[in-house]
Amino acid sequence: MKKILILTLCFLMCFITLTPTAFAKCSHKNTKWETLQEATCTKAGKRVKLCTKCGKSLKTERIKKKNHTLKRYIKKATCTSNGLNWERCSRCKYTRVLNKIPAKGHAFGVTHYGASCTAPEMTIKTCERCGKKETTTKGKPIGHKWGKWQLVSVNASGVRNYRTCVRCGLKQYKNSRYKF
Ligand SMILES: [Zn+2]
Ligand SMILES: [Zn+2]
Ligand SMILES: [Zn+2]
Ligand SMILES: [Zn+2]
Repeated sequence: MKKILILTLCFLMCFITLTPTAFAKCSHKNTKWETLQEATCTKAGKRVKLCTKCGKSLKTERIKKKNHTLKRYIKKATCTSNGLNWERCSRCKYTRVLNKIPAKGHAFGVTHYGASCTAPEMTIKTCERCGKKETTTKGKPIGHKWGKWQLVSVNASGVRNYRTCVRCGLKQYKNSRYKF
């Protein structure tokens, strides 16, 4: 019994005296960096140097922010809407406008039509770029200019006649009954 007690005491003594020196002796030879916070385009990150053996953190360090990776884009101007030169970061989707391109306005070609029998005087403007049409009219149709009535046929019930517009060539027919 006494022997066991002595052995136990001896063991404990050894343990107490050895333990602190065993831990203090780690020379932190093997280390690794561990990221605590990833760096983004606009914010710095943080990393820590750890001893792989005892886990002690030996040093913390900032990770530089990355800066935007900007790619340039162009939205072309049309007749009625502004264009844009802009950039976008492929990492964080940050965008910024470099400059605006003013709308071009329509490039109208103008065709003029004089008044006809059935249509008023007309100006049609057509944009060569986008096809937009603007029509303006002036006055009224001038109406048909009829020639004399011509005979088509005669039969038991009456007479059939026609006349022609000398301007547009339209033909108009009429039937008339005999009057007795
Ligand atoms: Zn260590
Ligand atoms: Zn970015
Ligand atoms: Zn246009
Ligand atoms: Zn006519």
